[in-house]
Amino acid sequence: MTAHTSFFQNVLDYVDRAAALTNHPKGLLDQIKHCNSVYHFEFPLRHADGSVEVIKAWRVEHSHHKLPTKGGIRYAPDVNEDEVKALAALMTYKCAIVDVPFGGAKGAIQIDPKKYTLDQLERITRRYTHELAKKNFIGPGVDVPAPDYGTGEREMAWIADTYSAMNPGQIDAIACITGKPLSQGGIRGRREATGRGCFYALREACAHADDMKALGLSAGIAGKKVVVQGLGNVGYHAAKFCREEGDAIIIAIAEREGAIMNPNGLNEEEVFQHRKAKGSILNFPGATNIPNSIDALELECDALIPAALENQITEANADRIKARIIVEGANGPMTPGAEEVLRKKGTLIIPDVYANAGGVTVSYFEWLKNLSHVRVGRMGKRYEQASELRLIHMMESLTGRSFNEDQLKLASKGPDELDFVNSGLEDTMVVAYQRLREIWKTDARVHDLRTAAFLDAIEKVARAYAELGIFP
Ligand code: NAD
Repeated sequence: MTAHTSFFQNVLDYVDRAAALTNHPKGLLDQIKHCNSVYHFEFPLRHADGSVEVIKAWRVEHSHHKLPTKGGIRYAPDVNEDEVKALAALMTYKCAIVDVPFGGAKGAIQIDPKKYTLDQLERITRRYTHELAKKNFIGPGVDVPAPDYGTGEREMAWIADTYSAMNPGQIDAIACITGKPLSQGGIRGRREATGRGCFYALREACAHADDMKALGLSAGIAGKKVVVQGLGNVGYHAAKFCREEGDAIIIAIAEREGAIMNPNGLNEEEVFQHRKAKGSILNFPGATNIPNSIDALELECDALIPAALENQITEANADRIKARIIVEGANGPMTPGAEEVLRKKGTLIIPDVYANAGGVTVSYFEWLKNLSHVRVGRMGKRYEQASELRLIHMMESLTGRSFNEDQLKLASKGPDELDFVNSGLEDTMVVAYQRLREIWKTDARVHDLRTAAFLDAIEKVARAYAELGIFP
């Protein structure tokens, strides 16, 4: 596969590689591949000194085969249209892979959020929402954004508020966006969902003893040495769950200003607090500094989780990457050229279109919560608690033995919103991994998980078009 400077072209190449294994007509494949709507707009921002800056922004809806479309909003100084198109396209395939009934979309504002005051960020975000609403590029049944690089719950709350103000009385208005704070209609577990999903992806991969043996690794995630790039939303939570729930060892964490390494393991929360207090990840007690951040990707480790930006693993460093497994937490962290080098080395690559789909999966749950106007589990919790207690008392009377207070509490907890969200997320990630692995292992033409993932997605989107009667 040829290396491109265009991220969107890279995605098209991945699609072409998988599409070549199907019998779909060219017209259908073209319809699947290209972006349905691209909206580029600019708006002014007045600074305190009276000067005016014109801000560039985008929203791209890649595929309308299912509505609403869905995808995050990125604030970054060097974001461009090509990148937004690529990210929107990835969303279409991602949603299809994890069976989330949305088309793909993505949005961006070309700013470095750190260079603006809180007040300016709020004005920029509200104006962006206004522009989207004017052109019908946002709405609970139209297009539903979410957080991405450089944005979070705060921006989502501003967007929900602006949209609701523009649509008074629209009862489903807050379903126009996901990733909101809890008090604004958010859902428990959304903030950590993408990182948690990366953990499930790695855990599933490690559970296959044959696959691990082929990599020269033992089965199971416990004890695996992991390097994480980016201590933002995705990287922080991926590290947290791999360490807390998987018993993996986080041996290095890379941030913009450098990386740190400790073969005995790092605690992401302590590192986060250190960085917050000192303004840098470097000089963390007990860890070795790696001044050139990107060098951390080349450390000896079992798994590498790039969770910062695209194009971090390229032909320039691919042959020096020693990780046996790469979990693409970020979107497009690896170029196709780098992938070719790594595939020859036998590295197991868990592709972004699947690995970071945890965020959109739980966004889907949040959207459902907003449309149903009820917290999942609200009506059943007490009933389930009572049923569990009845069963326990029955067991006690049959066995003549009693549970202690702690055991009773544990056994009759009754599921709450977070339990349901995590259960839905885990099931989604596990089922999707098994399906992709099945395609990879049973179709002799498929040599890797990425091709399996795109093939799975293309088939599902093609089926949706066929069922709409657009293509035979
Ligand atoms: P974020 O802004 O919360 O975190 C990104 C982190 O990467 C920041 O801490 C930043 O300082 C760090 N970083 C930037 N440049 C770096 C570099 N050169 N080396 C090391 N670290 C660097 O963003 P996020 O939401 O965690 O998103 C990260 C990636 O994951 C993006 O590619 C995004 O598209 C993808 N993603 C995010 C979500 C989500 O739910 N947030 C979902 C799917 C995919």
